[in-house]
Amino acid sequence: MANAFFKVPEAVNEPVKAYGKGSQERTDLLAEYQRLYSQKPIEIPMYIGSNQIHTEDKRPLSPPHDHKKCIGTFSYGNASHVQQAIDAALNAKNAWAALPWTERAAIFLKAADLLAGPYRNRMNAATMLGQSKNIFQAEIDAACEMIDFFRFNVQYMTQIYQEQPISSPGIWNRLEYRPLEGFVFAVTPFNFTAIAANLCAAPAMMGNVVVWKPADSQIYSAHVIMELFKEAGLPDGVINMVTVEGPVAGEVVFNHPYFAGLHFTGSTSVFKHLWKTIGNSIEKYKSYPRIVGETGGKDFVFVHESADPAIVATALSRGAFEYQGQKCSAASRAYLPSNRWDEIKPILLKQVQSFKMGSTYEPSNFINAVIDEKAFDKISGFIDFIKEQPDAEIIAGGKYDKSVGYFIEPTIVLTTNPSFRTLCEEIFGPVLTLFIYDPNQVDETLSLIDQTSDYALTGAILAKDRYVIQKAMARLEHSAGNLYINDKPTGAVVGQQPFGGARGSGTNDKAGAAMNLLRWVSARTIKETFVSPTDYRYPFMEE
Ligand code: NAD
Repeated sequence: MANAFFKVPEAVNEPVKAYGKGSQERTDLLAEYQRLYSQKPIEIPMYIGSNQIHTEDKRPLSPPHDHKKCIGTFSYGNASHVQQAIDAALNAKNAWAALPWTERAAIFLKAADLLAGPYRNRMNAATMLGQSKNIFQAEIDAACEMIDFFRFNVQYMTQIYQEQPISSPGIWNRLEYRPLEGFVFAVTPFNFTAIAANLCAAPAMMGNVVVWKPADSQIYSAHVIMELFKEAGLPDGVINMVTVEGPVAGEVVFNHPYFAGLHFTGSTSVFKHLWKTIGNSIEKYKSYPRIVGETGGKDFVFVHESADPAIVATALSRGAFEYQGQKCSAASRAYLPSNRWDEIKPILLKQVQSFKMGSTYEPSNFINAVIDEKAFDKISGFIDFIKEQPDAEIIAGGKYDKSVGYFIEPTIVLTTNPSFRTLCEEIFGPVLTLFIYDPNQVDETLSLIDQTSDYALTGAILAKDRYVIQKAMARLEHSAGNLYINDKPTGAVVGQQPFGGARGSGTNDKAGAAMNLLRWVSARTIKETFVSPTDYRYPFMEE
């Protein structure tokens, strides 16, 4: 019986390890990578209730930077597994929802500490191997961001529970934050291990049960996430992981009367499709499903003539090319003033041409492979398209090779066409498109930035001039959900820069913030009157 108001430990961001040359942490992580790479190939099951399900349909797992190497297989399921996962979730629901919040908090705080300690190398190595993230990109995602999600969300959960209405004399008003009546469907992308974990953990922390469908190309680290949850004490059935085709899962989930919420991160087109499917099925549900989706971006960098060229070049080289441009927040279009371009260009080209590309096992490789052959073909198709256009020129990169891994050179495109295709469409790869503008046309350029794409995820303003910063912030008010001033538009930190975009980029429910957790509860208001009336007549009725 919890007969005290417990305080949770104050959340602080997990320190990012540096993995410098000769450090013990680097030696240990690379040894773990090597162990996972060389061990007998693993067989990854689905996790449904207390069962680990292996099927005959086994799909191979290979590092994107070394795709001939098989590091394991994962069992693929079908509609019956999705149904079993829903049943397992609904079976677990009552006990989980009735568990005091302190116990739920303890599970996720424990998961954070396990990940900060004994699970750190395995989660990072799985992400390096399976998703081709270099050491640093793995550390900031699979270790630090995931830990931060767990710790900060526990704190936000308690803040939500503390939010209570006022009461008046003789009356006590209360709010309780019930989990949704049904199950939540978490559909997650390949590119962030932390996002995959958080899309399941956030609703579960608030007392919900979850059916999770990870992306096929994130299964290796997804499996480590499930092991982490189990070790932290998450009861069976609270989070169930099924590996099936998206539409197969959707067909079962979106026809179920107890489908209560979608927690999605991925591309805009898939999210719109899911939203339409849910809308068309609305008569089938017991309640109105919550729909939360963070989706694509066409993230801009606006450079003013007052900006420092070295800052501009670095914001672009890191912002556009870290993790091969496969961040929803990656800088993918930049607008530079013609009177500073000659200074910026050599610094930018020098930086990009010094990038090393290759396996994630070699820490000096800043660039690794793109996620899979489908992505490789799509991105290289864009590069081929660019090469044929009269109004665009490739000034860096432009080559690609998939013989060993899915390697695409970081590519910079210069266009004279403000509506050029790669200024508008999300490529989701290492391709940055530049447009050089007349410095006397700042207002027109800001309007162009605002109107060029359907997305509004991240953006950056690089300038020293405060009048310009102020003007750009106002003109670009709805162009980005996360705006950066004199920094690259990537690298949001939980608790510091709540993340999410508007317009075509999503519902902007800000992952890693109380705003997101509120979507996974349905408040019940309770009014209790201590001395209840016994006569229906009011004084105004006196004759
Ligand atoms: P994706 O849309 O291809 O896939 C996302 C998930 O949806 C996967 O699990 C996939 O299997 C599933 N899916 C696909 N079709 C489905 C269907 N019909 N029914 C049910 N599920 C279905 O995205 P991706 O390639 O994994 O990730 C890249 C995309 O994610 C980019 O567009 C990127 O901008 C976006 N993203 C956005 C954010 C953000 O916070 N805004 C963060 C990360 C990634």
